[in-house]
Amino acid sequence: MNYISTRGNNQKMTSAQAIIAGLADDGGLFVPDELPQVDMEFIKGLTKLSYQERAARVLGCFLTDYTDEEIKGCVERAYGGGKFDDAAVAPLNIMEDVSVLELWHGPTSAFKDMALQLLPQLLSTALKKTGEKNQVLILVATSGDTGKAALEGFRDVEQTKIIVFYPENGVSRIQKLQMVTQQGENVAVTAVKGNFDDAQSGVKAIFSDREFNAKLNEAGVSLSSANSINWGRLVPQIVYYFSAYADLLKAGVIRAGDEISFTVPTGNFGDILAGYYALRMGLPVKKLICASNTNNVLTDFLTTGVYDRNRDFFKTISPSMDILISSNLERLLYHVTNDAAQVAEWMKSLAETGRYDVGAEVLAKIQATFGCDWADDQKTMETINAVYGERKYIADTHTAVAWDSAHKYMLQGNAEPMVVVSTASPYKFNESVLTALGEAIEGMDEFQLLDKLQSMNSFKIPAGLAALKNAEVRHGNVVEKTAMPQAVAAFAGQN
Ligand SMILES: *Cc1c(COP(=O)(O)O)cnc(C)c1O
Repeated sequence: MNYISTRGNNQKMTSAQAIIAGLADDGGLFVPDELPQVDMEFIKGLTKLSYQERAARVLGCFLTDYTDEEIKGCVERAYGGGKFDDAAVAPLNIMEDVSVLELWHGPTSAFKDMALQLLPQLLSTALKKTGEKNQVLILVATSGDTGKAALEGFRDVEQTKIIVFYPENGVSRIQKLQMVTQQGENVAVTAVKGNFDDAQSGVKAIFSDREFNAKLNEAGVSLSSANSINWGRLVPQIVYYFSAYADLLKAGVIRAGDEISFTVPTGNFGDILAGYYALRMGLPVKKLICASNTNNVLTDFLTTGVYDRNRDFFKTISPSMDILISSNLERLLYHVTNDAAQVAEWMKSLAETGRYDVGAEVLAKIQATFGCDWADDQKTMETINAVYGERKYIADTHTAVAWDSAHKYMLQGNAEPMVVVSTASPYKFNESVLTALGEAIEGMDEFQLLDKLQSMNSFKIPAGLAALKNAEVRHGNVVEKTAMPQAVAAFAGQN
């Protein structure tokens, strides 16, 4: 299997090469040039397996240039060794009306761990396979969650280093604590005087500074990114759609071949796109419901066929979905049309005007699979409250957005089993969650909030969050935006 660009520059790569490159030369995203097919025997075969074994089977369909041994090693290092606080890794919580796929049992308590634990392993293996001698330095600008998950994933991974920039006053206290206490010998965390856009544009400028990159190359270092357009971040996410189906089969909720649907809280469209790959491979999926918050650019797109980012940006209580450009949509457009020239044209239009229109025919094809809905903050809070009232289960804000969309879809008379994809631990967004539950929290510090939440449900405070109370601060560096390149160069020069 080869990997090609969604914009059609005829570059052909192995999966290892695509994972190292990240982005195609023409600015497109790498996609597999054929979609592997599985049959019901393959799916039934997953029921008896651990999550790691399920992952190895599904990944094997796409990473055809990796040996079975290599893939097995990668998934063991990513998901084994007690890094996840549930032996099932991505447990399916089966309730009477819906099932909740909990993707937040990893080290940073959010679903980014599912991909960012595995990507570094796939990358490190790719470097060995391709004989790449340079050390890879991962550069990340973060508004909170991605930075921590990337740090945990890359910590002490061979032939890699990672430096994360965060806005000095632009992340929550707990997110800051998570990052400045990061352990590992190959990590650096630096605050930037400015907001997230300053950090992000600083990182972009470093990536596109040819002279700077050439100097690093001479010193045996290449820069790379861990953002969600890398194929190595997308492919791990396909696994849990299969895993959820296998768990429903195993529990006798469905019979082999029955269709199920998923509702996914969506931002950059990576998570839900992984479900689309699973469907195209042969997993019996009826609908993928794309759930948005007030930044509902995707709801509009999936309703009208017009993608238009020219609109107000809202800060919501589900911040990981506060996005106006959903990069991974480009991959969907490619697979639906098989027309790279057309995709390139739409993306050009997006870059130049902030807008493109796919037309009625393509829209109809997309709507055959994708449903959509959205919830504002008020509705999100009400949902957290209602879900808790009905079943003593605490959903985080992102999960609640999806839960609401799933609920509305089911009320329309859709009777197939529904899986709500849950992307963060409620402990991670404790302030909004406790407020939704009607608790008085004024004056409480982060750790009191965690304790309060624990007293209300059966899940323990995640170990990674509890440990922050006494963790040593290891990273106190603060720089001006203009000094980011120096920070990178200094870190690249250290051994
Ligand atoms: C990143 C994230 C999302 C959105 O996922 P995409 O793949 O970007 O669509 C949803 N919820 C949480 C908690 C996240 O961290």
